[in-house]
Amino acid sequence: MDNHTMVAVLERDGYIRSEKVKRAFEIVDRANFVSEDKRAYAYFDEPLPIGWSQTISAPSMVAIMLELLQIEEGNKVLEIGTGSGYNACLMACMGAEVITIERIPALRDFAKDNMKKCPCREKVKIFLGDGSIGFKREAPYDRIILTCGAPDIPPPLIEQLKPGGIMVIHLGGTFFQELYVVKKEKGRLMKKRWGEVAFVPLIGKYGHRWA
Ligand code: SAM
Repeated sequence: MDNHTMVAVLERDGYIRSEKVKRAFEIVDRANFVSEDKRAYAYFDEPLPIGWSQTISAPSMVAIMLELLQIEEGNKVLEIGTGSGYNACLMACMGAEVITIERIPALRDFAKDNMKKCPCREKVKIFLGDGSIGFKREAPYDRIILTCGAPDIPPPLIEQLKPGGIMVIHLGGTFFQELYVVKKEKGRLMKKRWGEVAFVPLIGKYGHRWA
């Protein structure tokens, strides 16, 4: 299996639905975002450990989130949970300017290193910190995506989302959550439930205290 075959399978199975998402998945090779000992599994549709009890999400889950996020060229996107840097690079290759926040210093460094092979890396800025409070310095954002599970929508993220903006978020407990697409329309939040998911927890001021 190679990256191209993985993309073809994700498209065949209906996870990749748009040309924009497909092109990004073709450009960004998932094998560059896992450690050497996991390379053999890089194209399996499974989450993989990236150390520090964290994971790179399954490619089908990443495709689902990116299709729901509806990124448009030039969008400013805030990602909470850099992890391996894979999703941040995909969004950059979809034409977004990406601000991504990671709370674990070693993963921030892992992601920075992984991104060296991504042709769209110039469009990604990584910061260390608690993403549950958002990142005010670069706000407002056209899109916000959480790649970890939150107990509720963090109020600072609502503030930092532009009117008409879209947020993809997983709400629930520390193991299982439900994916929601949240739209900010005329000062109101419209929440649409997509389905059940299992993400590592958002840890922080507006997250869980600990896993
Ligand atoms: N997007 C990642 C990728 O493409 O590899 C996968 C992210 S992993 C499923 C979730 C990440 O969220 C972990 O790296 C974890 O350390 C991070 N995280 C959890 N709470 C956080 C917080 N408050 N702020 C920033 N990152 C956080």
